[in-house]
Amino acid sequence: MVTAVFEVGAALLGACVGSFLNVVIHRLPQEDPAKRSLGGRSRCPHCGVQIPWHDNLPVLGWILLRGRGRCCGKPIALRYPAVELLTAGLFLLLALLPPFGHPPIFAEPDGGYVFAFDAAAAFAFDAVFVALLVACTFIDLDHFILPDRLTKPGMAIGLCGGLWPGIAGVLGDDPGVALAVRTFLASLAGLLVGGGVTWAIRIAGSWVFRKEAMGFGDVKFMAMIGAFVGWQGALLTLFLGCVAGAVLGAASMLRGGAAKIPFGPYLAIGAVLALFWQRPILDFLFVTWPAWQRDSTSGPWILLAVALVSLVLLLVLVRRSRRLG
Ligand SMILES: [Zn+2]
Repeated sequence: MVTAVFEVGAALLGACVGSFLNVVIHRLPQEDPAKRSLGGRSRCPHCGVQIPWHDNLPVLGWILLRGRGRCCGKPIALRYPAVELLTAGLFLLLALLPPFGHPPIFAEPDGGYVFAFDAAAAFAFDAVFVALLVACTFIDLDHFILPDRLTKPGMAIGLCGGLWPGIAGVLGDDPGVALAVRTFLASLAGLLVGGGVTWAIRIAGSWVFRKEAMGFGDVKFMAMIGAFVGWQGALLTLFLGCVAGAVLGAASMLRGGAAKIPFGPYLAIGAVLALFWQRPILDFLFVTWPAWQRDSTSGPWILLAVALVSLVLLLVLVRRSRRLG
């Protein structure tokens, strides 16, 4: 019962955070400092009329208005409820899955529930992480930038979050060194590996293609992701981001979609997968898959074919993607 309340609460909190993220996504990249402010009431983007609070309820407001503004009747983009639902879903996953899912936050020593502060603090840090990923994804889709005003504070928060076990993992197992120090080092290692490897890819990419394929924004974005998920998580994020980029990029090209593709959203997809399913994915890649390969004679050929196809897709993707800032 307590855990169900917690899970529903997490989803509702996610919907409200998503509603705020819509404001961040819309206002943060504005040139004009007055329009960039995150304070003040929401206004209709078409006619500028202030939106009453009951029309601004996450998801529900959009449904009750049937997607049209009460002021001028102009359509309200489906993007707004979509961002709110996405954030609600990610917060719900945080509440359901380990390491924050119900047993750690509500430990049950003898039948009763005890609120576990460490797990709750870690949950809060990763809720901030997920929110940063959502905001960066949609700003990158709209403007081809990953703003410093999100990634730099994100790095700092990720490093602070590294003080709680369960966020970026633990570096080393020396009991003589305090756990907080070893978890902080895990976060720092994630920041350096995430940023460093992406920086190396950026240099190699611009050398091979003689144009900028990845921006410095991607480097800072990956450093931020590494601070939250640790160095193994950062490498897994890069790998999964490339897979997602190759698959989704190829799908959008087949449909004749946009020629310019920002890399940030793919990295964010990789980061979400690495955050929630790092253990099972690493088990599959390094235990199940090699075992299957040993037992199957066609294994190496399939692997070679998959590697070749992904390489071709990735080359096409990097050639066609472009970064403005
Ligand atoms: Zn209006």
